[in-house]
Amino acid sequence: MFENLSERLSGVFDRLTRQGALSEEDVKTALREVRVALLEADVSLPVARDFVAAVQAKATGQAVTKSVTPGQQVVKIVHDALVDTLTGSEDPGALKIDNPPAPILMVGLQGSGKTTTTGKLAKRLKERDGKRVLMASLDIYRPAAMQQLQILGQQIGVDTLPIVPGENAVQIAKRARTQASLGGYDVYLLDTAGRLQIDQTLMQEVEDVRDAVKPRETLLVVDGLTGQVAVEVAEEFDAKVGISGVILTRMDGDGRGGAALSMRAVTGKPIRFVGLGEKMDALETFEPERIAGRILG
Ligand code: GDP
Repeated sequence: MFENLSERLSGVFDRLTRQGALSEEDVKTALREVRVALLEADVSLPVARDFVAAVQAKATGQAVTKSVTPGQQVVKIVHDALVDTLTGSEDPGALKIDNPPAPILMVGLQGSGKTTTTGKLAKRLKERDGKRVLMASLDIYRPAAMQQLQILGQQIGVDTLPIVPGENAVQIAKRARTQASLGGYDVYLLDTAGRLQIDQTLMQEVEDVRDAVKPRETLLVVDGLTGQVAVEVAEEFDAKVGISGVILTRMDGDGRGGAALSMRAVTGKPIRFVGLGEKMDALETFEPERIAGRILG
């Protein structure tokens, strides 16, 4: 397991204090440890580097070197800076779903947890926000995925669009919109098809659906354990289809959550929710404090 940052820094400062007063150089040494800790938590190298440079400026101006517990002091500065980076002006849990029926497009790679997350989000919107929700699977390549969403719908008591064989993704999306309007739904979730890797056909299809329904939110579902890959996926989806937010899944796993920091720093998009298990209620609003604590170990 990882040695946590506080312990690691205490070690550094113990060594340093034996040599007398701490200098700016000592703070630099400590921040090298911070950088290693960030990399171990799966933060990407350029993001870790920039972050440490920003923290250096803050730490130098403060009385870190005079503190009796300089290690903890640095950890606090780093923690606060992490929270700052992860916090945006938006409220992560508040989706733009006024003007019913509001379309929400769920995008991401196959296996990221997209269908499961669609169900979780539908349940949350229904139970916490009191919304009438309709779900539709646009995965014409995998009939099993369409059935999976229907089964989830039955489990959580959320309606799904009936499956009509032979339609393309745009036709299904438009039918969902019609049904959502006629049926008095507040929001409809479109679970788009995923691929194992990003390819042109997938992107084109998502773009066509986007142009057809003009989603209020386009939420990218990514596996939080995939670190740097998750960030690349987010950059690519954002460049091609434009995303409004991110949902990180598998945050119940062993990962240290560094993907969250890289994601925010690189794409500037808010992380809205995190998936914390396979069950339908294992979805929580993103909390910068929790992720910061986890990154620091
Ligand atoms: P999709 O191909 O992107 O639609 O992926 P699925 O929704 O079918 O999910 C793939 C697997 O990941 C399923 O076994 C899910 O139960 C599991 N899964 C999804 N989200 C989470 C999560 O937050 N935590 C854990 N542990 N498993 C998850």
